[in-house]
Amino acid sequence: MSVAAPDELDQPIRRTMPELARGAGVLTRLGISTAREALWYLPFRYDDFSELRPLGELVPDEKQSARVTVAAIRVEPGFGRRPQRVVAQLTDHTGSAEAIWFGRRFVERRLQQGDEVIVSGKVTQRGWRSQFTSPEFSPVGHESVHTARVVPVYHLTAGVTQKRLRELLARILDRTLPSVVDPLTDDERHGLPALDDALRTAHFPEEAADVTDALDRLAFDELLALQLTLAQAREARAGLTAPRIAVTDADRAEIIHALPFTLTDDQARAAAEIIGEIGAERPMRRLLQGDVGSGKTAVAAVALASAVRAGWQGALMAPTEILARQHHAGLAPLLDGLGVRAEFLSGSLPVARKREIHDAIAAGAAEIVIGTHAVISEAVEFPRLGLVIVDEQHRFGVGQRAALQAKGSGGEPHVLALTATPIPRTLALSVYGDLSISTIRQLPPGREPVRTEIRDRRALPKIEAFLAAEAGEGRQAFVVVPLVAESDALQVASAEAEAERLRTALPNLRIGIVHGQQRPDLRDATMTAFASGEMDLLVATTVIEVGIDVPNASVIVIEDAERFGLAQLHQLRGRVGRGTQRSFCILLSDATDELAMRRLEVVRGSNDGFAIAEADLELRGAGNLLGTRQSGLPPLRVASLFDPRHIELAQRAREVADRVVTADPALTGRPLLARLQRDFAPIEEEGDAA
Ligand code: ADP
Ligand code: MG
Repeated sequence: MSVAAPDELDQPIRRTMPELARGAGVLTRLGISTAREALWYLPFRYDDFSELRPLGELVPDEKQSARVTVAAIRVEPGFGRRPQRVVAQLTDHTGSAEAIWFGRRFVERRLQQGDEVIVSGKVTQRGWRSQFTSPEFSPVGHESVHTARVVPVYHLTAGVTQKRLRELLARILDRTLPSVVDPLTDDERHGLPALDDALRTAHFPEEAADVTDALDRLAFDELLALQLTLAQAREARAGLTAPRIAVTDADRAEIIHALPFTLTDDQARAAAEIIGEIGAERPMRRLLQGDVGSGKTAVAAVALASAVRAGWQGALMAPTEILARQHHAGLAPLLDGLGVRAEFLSGSLPVARKREIHDAIAAGAAEIVIGTHAVISEAVEFPRLGLVIVDEQHRFGVGQRAALQAKGSGGEPHVLALTATPIPRTLALSVYGDLSISTIRQLPPGREPVRTEIRDRRALPKIEAFLAAEAGEGRQAFVVVPLVAESDALQVASAEAEAERLRTALPNLRIGIVHGQQRPDLRDATMTAFASGEMDLLVATTVIEVGIDVPNASVIVIEDAERFGLAQLHQLRGRVGRGTQRSFCILLSDATDELAMRRLEVVRGSNDGFAIAEADLELRGAGNLLGTRQSGLPPLRVASLFDPRHIELAQRAREVADRVVTADPALTGRPLLARLQRDFAPIEEEGDAA
């Protein structure tokens, strides 16, 4: 695949914009080193400060802007643990208000009595007057990217502020947008904005209403990259063959019999469908969808063991190290009983161990490899890879899946993707077309549905008493801390604070904590300790979202539940109710708006992941872009296959992709796919490469 010669956009910012040297250092913390990465580092929501309100008409608890005169300003020194504060009195012809900033932010150097400024920020009611808390401000007549406009809000990390990031991105946009070349023809973009306009608007919209079109354009590009990949795969696969994995009825029966339980009818049917399809020469592309706890992993085990019995190797990839380990811990003994050797492989293993496993795989001694995406790293050679299983497929990029598929020798391996996020059938057919689907609707017998309640914070004492009582019965509980979309560091801080609070409130309980910024071995050790009953309560961020299996856990409390996506809430709820005891999910929320309540009601009222996904799709609708982020779902950065508008875009992208690929299957005449992929290349994260 040929990529156009690297242009300025792909050079390090510190080289192309030396005037931003220090800013470039800040961006590095977010994994951004080139202008292209900066341009595609999109906000996850916007604050609409565009309307200027008279001070007399400020509304409490809303984000607003006002044009004011600074009547007075004073610095109150900090003492003890109290930080320094700067307090300004603001006036306009309709009234007055106060603004307050905490900590040494040197506001007093930039703001003086008599200044006319625009302030933008959240307003709260303090007694009889309104107060802006840490607002942004800019002198009247001086354009600012922070005030009196629709303001982008980005994901941050330690040492980066919204303000700094906005300023840097604004400068990079100004400087580099002229170098952005639109990869699409006018005909292909079909009325959507040109790429440079779309990028400018996605970061700094003139008006809130413009955002939708801009993001649709970027979503279209992203979907087109996906569709081009799929179209090429279809085209290539038309002539390709996969190994015929011939599983005898006797082998299948023996494998199923060796399981410690009887498969449900749905599981047995799914297993039969898979075994049927891998026996044919056409490469399988199948999705196995079923609710959390419906027993997809068991089906995967049957498929893998069958493939090995028939003389092939198999691989199972999970999105996180914990999940991969848990799969390995669960499957290895099962497979061992069938004389099948399964190895665990992840980037965090010692080099020598990794090499050992690579060798065992290359020699064919390791018949099944279970791991993170280390499984597809260059060094791994599978002589007889026949079946690849991808768990929670929405977490994997298309590129990674393609790389794994390329590992097959003697043809394409068969691929089975497991997902608990059901894809509505119409969508699956229109977007993926030739994907076959197996569905498990039935839960294994003996499961009681999880009882779900919605409570507000006033109920905390009762909830804590309940947690203590359950612990007294030998049960365990999860407490999931609120999603802090702005920053991982803040999320970790909130998890730690909550663990402290609970340790004080429940001194007799053994309380652990897991979050995404712990070292994987520490996090694993905690998870393992919890799973083996050495802890009563686990305070966690969404790292526990998928797959973790602790049958003894009977309660999950989800704080500020309204901040989560419905599918995600349902996933989280699936962490309990995996044993036979009665289990509870408490959705804690102080939200009062009607939509939030309706959303939570959907989760409370249903234990069916398919129904919840459909309701989510309906409730989302178009036009609620401000303030939303599709948590948990998309493998895509901008596009969401749960957004009805994007489903249409995906269909159109598919048509364009088919046309382009039919005319030029290798895309040699026009490196469209390479260019789109370059735009949406994932920003390098630390960690897990083997
Ligand atoms: P999923 O991957 O779909 O979330 P799992 O395969 O992890 O579900 O299964 C959830 C739990 O149910 C596991 O503890 C598993 O051992 C158990 N299980 C799976 N299938 C059955 C079955 N047919 N009968 C009883 N228990 C089952
Ligand atoms: Mg699972």
